[in-house]
Amino acid sequence: MQEFYNETFLNAQKQLDHVAQLMNLDTGIHERLRYPRKALIVSVPIRLDNGQTRVYSGYRVQHDQSLGPTKGGIRFHHEVNLGEVAALAMWMTWKCALLNLPYGGAKGGVCCFPEEMSVAEMERLARRYTTEILSMIGPEKDIPAPDMYTNEQTMAWIMDTYSNFIGYAVPGVVTGKPVAVGGSLGRREATGRGVAHTVKMALEKLKLGTDVPTAAVQGFGNVGSITAKYLDLQGVKVVAVSDVQGGIYNPNGLDIPRLLSYVADRGTVIGFDELDSMENKDLLELDVDILVPAALANVITEHNAEKIKAKIVAEGANGPVTPEADEILQKKGVFIIPGILANAGGVVVSYFEWVQDIQHLFWSEDQVNEKLGYLMGRAFEEVYNISQAKKVDNRTAAMMLGVGRVASAKMLRGLYP
Ligand code: GLU
Repeated sequence: MQEFYNETFLNAQKQLDHVAQLMNLDTGIHERLRYPRKALIVSVPIRLDNGQTRVYSGYRVQHDQSLGPTKGGIRFHHEVNLGEVAALAMWMTWKCALLNLPYGGAKGGVCCFPEEMSVAEMERLARRYTTEILSMIGPEKDIPAPDMYTNEQTMAWIMDTYSNFIGYAVPGVVTGKPVAVGGSLGRREATGRGVAHTVKMALEKLKLGTDVPTAAVQGFGNVGSITAKYLDLQGVKVVAVSDVQGGIYNPNGLDIPRLLSYVADRGTVIGFDELDSMENKDLLELDVDILVPAALANVITEHNAEKIKAKIVAEGANGPVTPEADEILQKKGVFIIPGILANAGGVVVSYFEWVQDIQHLFWSEDQVNEKLGYLMGRAFEEVYNISQAKKVDNRTAAMMLGVGRVASAKMLRGLYP
């Protein structure tokens, strides 16, 4: 199974091996969980606006189906490859199980430079990619959702393409759609809202002894920007944020509502309030109480972990902390809220969207947010209690819960044939 091997996939496997040993996991089940169940590589040819044809590599990986259909986002990014998608699919399995959602994990992606593509090219890419992976997806099989550089519009194109093949509208085939075509109220903000909610719970547990905790947020896409919005509303002073172009820092706190409208206009945080820009890597090392890496994987490594000063690291992104860095941060006593918990709000409301789609009955935004708060709060408490009882870090505790639930289902279902 060496096809999957790259840094991110090996990190995901290492995390599984670690908890498997602690839990005395059945070796057969452990071995089955170390690799995805199914992976598809496709060529995605599209016609560019200039008339030329370009072929992109696309992937869809389903990690495990013991608890239900598979679920997970689709990303368009130049670093997408089979190993990364497989690692992300594995994390989705633990995330769904941890939140008690009836899903296994999946992920998909196309290796491309979305920033350089027109809307028409993106549409052709989304539609052709959907066509190529069509046999793998469906409301009872595998349900994609947005991830890096994909959004509600992308999901609408995927839903439309799939529905055209089937012959009638199938809103339940993807989540994170616009509300007008069967999306759920509250889905767009769900991931960031969930990250901020877990930070609030962490602050209650930790009692940092400061009235106004400070935060830095790396990444100002859907997850980072909404996290900053809710941290600000919760009374946290957000002093630094960044996007691909760099970061901005104001020790007195950034005016987040004004920054959000600035970014909506300009498409970047750079230039806001004429603040000097700073490098993304320096933002990570700022002296703040809370650090939210909400951009790429592997940004906190053994090279910079020692320099992290935050007391709470809430993983808005998937896999921002490598296993080596994890160990260093644990030793420093940093309270890490692992991605499979911190950023689970997105897939939780995706689940609500799917439930609403298949029963054709829609909920109010308050109902959605209340249920989201309940599920996130319950998972946080469960993780915290296990970490205290078993004297393990939060990531290990969260993985023990997630892996444990998948393992019990696998044990009960047995091995076919
Ligand atoms: N891509 C998001 C994640 O990593 C959302 C997945 C979903 O909603 O299915 O959790």
